[in-house]
Amino acid sequence: VVAERAEQVVADAPAIHVKVSNRDREIFPESTVTKGELADYYAAVAPLMLPWVAERPISLVRCPQGRGKKCFFQKHDAGSFGEHVHQVPVLEKDGATENYLYVSDADGLVACVQMGSIEVHGWGSTVAQLEKPDRLVFDLDPDEDLDFADTRGAAEHLQGLLGDLGLVSFPLLSGGKGVHVVVPLTPEAEWPAVRDFAERFARALEQADPARFVANMAKAKRKGRIFVDYLRNGRGSTAIMPYSARARAGAPVAVPVSWAELRDMRDAHPFCVRDAAKLIERATGRGLHGWGVADQVLPDL
Ligand code: ATP
Ligand code: MN
Ligand code: MN
Repeated sequence: VVAERAEQVVADAPAIHVKVSNRDREIFPESTVTKGELADYYAAVAPLMLPWVAERPISLVRCPQGRGKKCFFQKHDAGSFGEHVHQVPVLEKDGATENYLYVSDADGLVACVQMGSIEVHGWGSTVAQLEKPDRLVFDLDPDEDLDFADTRGAAEHLQGLLGDLGLVSFPLLSGGKGVHVVVPLTPEAEWPAVRDFAERFARALEQADPARFVANMAKAKRKGRIFVDYLRNGRGSTAIMPYSARARAGAPVAVPVSWAELRDMRDAHPFCVRDAAKLIERATGRGLHGWGVADQVLPDL
């Protein structure tokens, strides 16, 4: 049945016009996942993923020889990705203009895989309104000693506090160790205001419960605590995109879930690139709880 479903998923995937070379190259040696499988995964989940990732600047984790070899984080490019990966000029702090990448369709995602990419990270704003974020993200980074239940509880705690401020949020399983709490925004406020809100919120968390939360990046201060990484909310910062694969053992993927579903999760990486059928089934018949759905602005803190 699983194999049948997997075949169906491949059959239902959007038509792809990008040639993927070296399909048999093992990108994830531990789980024997190949470049071809990764390309098929992105093609299959493109309808789920694109509402979140299309038309926003992306950065890519590229591992051309697989995740066991050299990987690098790529933010700009002058055209080597081909016609399906677009460029948007962005004025940087130093006055220079850099071409950031964005995709609009499944071909764009597969073109990234063709170029050796595994992970897709994204800005908190779209190319149409670069200066006005449409999402806020709290990246919860637990100390290694903590159980996933601690991270889950922390995410739920944030949900409650955000809810008290009138803000709807949802959890994103990072595919790694932590959870991202994402707040969809109506693109109105600009980066400095959004970043400021995120920082104040994170500092208030630490102040209210310093044994549990830390808003300071230094690893030493994290002992037994959860670092509330609010720094993902600056202009030019990125966070892992929903349904992105991760360049980690087992080919896990980042998955948005409901708060009810989070309660049943035992870790932040329950799905992998071989679970496209499962992910599509889960998402069917359920509205996307994410960007573009909520209509909400940040209150003053
Ligand atoms: P985990 O749950 O395991 O922490 P994560 O995706 O949250 O997974 P982090 O190390 O906390 O991993 O990184 C948070 C975000 O910071 C990433 O999703 C990514 O967008 C950004 N980031 C990570 N590495 C780099 C890098 N080398 N350069 C720029 N941004 C990065
Ligand atoms: Mn993290
Ligand atoms: Mn982090």
